Amino acid sequence: MPSSLDELPACIRLETHATARDKAVAASDISPGSVVLEVPSMVVLLLSSSKGRRCDFCLCSSASEIRLAKCTGCASYWYCGSQCQTLHWGSHKKFCKRLASFMASVEFQCLEAHEQLDALLHTHLVAEISSNAPSDVRAKQLSTFMSLLPGPPHDSPPIACPMSVGVDVHQSLEVLFIRSQNNNFAIHSHLDTIAHGIFPLASRLFNHSCLPNAAARYVIRQGQSVRMEIVALREIKATEEICIPYVDPALIESRQQIFELTYGFSCTCPSCNFISTLGSIPPLPGSEAALAKLDNALQTFCFPSPDIDDHTLLVGCSLPDLPENLHRVLRESYLSRLTDAFSKSSHEGSYHVALNVGLTVLAVYILIYPENYPQIGMHLLEMAKTAWNAVIATEYDSTHKALAKTSLLKRARVYRNLANNILEVFGPEGDPAGPLEELAVLKKLLHEELLKSPQDDDQ
Ligand SMILES: [Zn+2]
Ligand SMILES: [Zn+2]
Ligand SMILES: [Zn+2]
Repeated sequence: MPSSLDELPACIRLETHATARDKAVAASDISPGSVVLEVPSMVVLLLSSSKGRRCDFCLCSSASEIRLAKCTGCASYWYCGSQCQTLHWGSHKKFCKRLASFMASVEFQCLEAHEQLDALLHTHLVAEISSNAPSDVRAKQLSTFMSLLPGPPHDSPPIACPMSVGVDVHQSLEVLFIRSQNNNFAIHSHLDTIAHGIFPLASRLFNHSCLPNAAARYVIRQGQSVRMEIVALREIKATEEICIPYVDPALIESRQQIFELTYGFSCTCPSCNFISTLGSIPPLPGSEAALAKLDNALQTFCFPSPDIDDHTLLVGCSLPDLPENLHRVLRESYLSRLTDAFSKSSHEGSYHVALNVGLTVLAVYILIYPENYPQIGMHLLEMAKTAWNAVIATEYDSTHKALAKTSLLKRARVYRNLANNILEVFGPEGDPAGPLEELAVLKKLLHEELLKSPQDDDQ
């Protein structure tokens, strides 16, 4: 696995960039779903919500019948077995005994939650790199890490848990921390963030785009350190730049500020260029009736054909064609209102409401996310499950039963197939099982249902 620029895989070439330092371009055509780069982690840190639920070294989950054992030194690190504890001990021992008093200190307690997370990430970083005899991989990672551009200066000096006596850190802490803030990735399993991590070569190579042609996924295996894989989301032609998202492109109103404050650049991707031509995004209407009208207008724009068809559902609209009366759907609060309503109605069993709101969510997603973006696939899977639940519910509802069921089954199949196409490109990530397994189960259920109702033969 490569850790430095002189070990690049054959499909990537580094070229100079007009505004960023360099850009990674495809050296040859890359097909969708290909792993462009696989890199080892240098540092990982579990989020507090995953603490005690996952191994602090390999990040595997205790949900899969793995019993975690607590470190007796600090009583705040958990391991899936002695192998992970031993592998982690080389760095963990440098702060294990001092961690409890550091986390109880006023200076740590005064920090906001995200700053506490940074302080712990810094602690891991210092512990990982303070060695007089680093492994070959660690030495290459560190030199790649130190070659990264520093982010904007900190407001207050960053802190970390003191290391045990006799641990020499060869780099100044400020020089380290100013690079970790803008070069750490959210590690996710089934697209749920569980940890943060530093992967220096991926940071060195890939620039950001809000319409990326590649994305990161994580390999979590019991007893092994976490790896990152960069996957092509669509065909990338030779000489085309390979970009990944640094932040969720759905943060349309706030992302530009995040780029400037955290990363020190402004994004000039086609999506940001379009948003900048709007000046400000108009406010949302106040009344529920006006919002419902807006939802309908957006659906009509994105899904002009009244027939749901697997091939055309996702290709009906693009951001630059969005008419002026619909610009307000780009407000972040518009999407959060819809996703809240979708999860509430699908959990409450109001499946028809959920399917309608879910279609509006899908419309926003295909406007703001690029082709095959995994969030679109995950949402389509939720839509397919909702349509299937609605099919089951029609068993108890005799009014227009057959008709409703046929149309719901069709929707469930369309959404499942579309979800499958997208999530197969992104591939399996994180914990075992996950969305691809759910898609396979749903396929079987839908197939069995189809055999029961032979009049419905569109699939
Ligand atoms: Zn483990
Ligand atoms: Zn410990
Ligand atoms: Zn952008």
